[in-house]
Amino acid sequence: MKTLLLVDDSPTVRHIERVILGRMGFEIIEACDGDEALQALREHPQIDVVLLDWNMPVMNGIDCLRRLRQEFAERELKVLMCTTEHELDRIIEAMEAGADEYIMKPFTADIVEGKLTGAGVL
Ligand SMILES: [Mg+2]
Repeated sequence: MKTLLLVDDSPTVRHIERVILGRMGFEIIEACDGDEALQALREHPQIDVVLLDWNMPVMNGIDCLRRLRQEFAERELKVLMCTTEHELDRIIEAMEAGADEYIMKPFTADIVEGKLTGAGVL
């Protein structure tokens, strides 16, 4: 079973993601900002995939992405940015920072499944 870290400051979004991804068979860990996400990655070396919101308090998703690619460079982590930021510049910025895929909100279970497949997770 793969372990997936959900990172989003919205409890509602985390709930929806937990339902969708739980049905796909992932073990789920949650974090509500980038700083908590980095802590979770330190505490849970079994995490395979990160679904990362962009806009969050404390530490946003793009800063978190850059830090986790440095700190966990030796780990084979797949990172999917999941956000309302849909401008091309932002997508390029995320891909250059090390995102494997980019999911636009609002999303459906089919979209999430397709992006996980595209990232080589499924
Ligand atoms: Mg947010």
